[in-house]
Amino acid sequence: MTVSAAPSTVKSRVLIAGATGFIGQFVAKASLDSGRPTYVLVRPGAAASPSKAEVLKSLHDKGAIILQGLVSDRENMEKLLKVHEIDIVISALGGENVLDQLGLIEAIKAVGTIKRFLPSEFGHDVTRADPVEPGLHMYKEKREIRRFVEEYGVPYTYICCNSIASWPYYDNKHPADALPPLDHFKIYGDGTVKAYFVAGTDIGKFTMKTVDDARTLNKSVHFRPPSNFYNMNELASLWEKKIGRTLPRVTVTENDLLAIAADNIIPDSIVAAFTHDIFIKGCQFNFSISSPEDVDVGTLYPGESFRTLDECFNDFALKLKDNNKDAGSHGNATPNHVVESLAISASCV
Ligand code: NDP
Repeated sequence: MTVSAAPSTVKSRVLIAGATGFIGQFVAKASLDSGRPTYVLVRPGAAASPSKAEVLKSLHDKGAIILQGLVSDRENMEKLLKVHEIDIVISALGGENVLDQLGLIEAIKAVGTIKRFLPSEFGHDVTRADPVEPGLHMYKEKREIRRFVEEYGVPYTYICCNSIASWPYYDNKHPADALPPLDHFKIYGDGTVKAYFVAGTDIGKFTMKTVDDARTLNKSVHFRPPSNFYNMNELASLWEKKIGRTLPRVTVTENDLLAIAADNIIPDSIVAAFTHDIFIKGCQFNFSISSPEDVDVGTLYPGESFRTLDECFNDFALKLKDNNKDAGSHGNATPNHVVESLAISASCV
């Protein structure tokens, strides 16, 4: 039986915590693009950082209403949810602040009118993935949040969007902010274990599709676009095609990744632990999503396409070309090996 999404005429009012962050920006932009009244919660003093002030200004210019507060402040959160008649709450707090969401969950429970809560997940299915420490610690905290949400009877959706489309650096928690390598590739293990890569814009777009879809109520939504299922060797070849030259490949062994994780340098060791789980153990595909608690985003929205990794890497190549042009205008250009005629439209990152 196919259950279709209920058509909604009145747009849900959305509150996003963490909208100045790496993932939160994509979600906030997608919420505004979807035409929903969008409220953005920022920590007092956030505007003191020029980069965050710029993000806030751009969200405000698109129509976001900026609210001040901490998600851990239960009383204030309760007040904000009531006063602004919020329907949907999305949290994109960073990994180090996951437990701050407890105050928010208590406020959601007290208010009793929130139709959907999306806690800060936006990665792997934390009940199935099993990284080594210190990655495991973050997953234990995310599992704790899930336990509270479910015990409190808060209606939820868990977004398991896998990896952001980019070169998966083992020591960079926001890899889409960096260009793929230009000197040599570091290949994890034998480079044959695959992962799903999703453009940041698609993380936002598909997240917003789920928020008032009856089929995603109390489910984990998995992002597994078949067109973006690549291993490290394939990813390296793709980038080589974009830059028009080959690069040396250096192997980073399983033991190397485990040793970096064991160093317990935060956040690099957390990223190394996840990298090991993804590219050595295959944590993104080594379980089935056929249980009633799981739903595949591609099955939900078959008419909606994902940006391909090929398109995303075109964007990186264009950025590289722009960087080289800028450097050239300052008299220190590096040799430009990028194919000149890349047609680029929207940005992945
Ligand atoms: P960031 O660290 O980039 O941003 C965190 C945001 O949360 C900031 O806007 C910060 O505000 C805000 N924040 C933190 N604490 C509070 C609080 N108590 N009250 C209100 N706001 C608060 O986070 P990321 O984007 O890196 O991480 C978001 C989620 O996405 C995490 O669950 C992470 O694990 C996941 N992730 C997934 C990736 C993937 O490839 N799939 C990659 C990276 C992250 P302020 O501006 O004041 O600092």
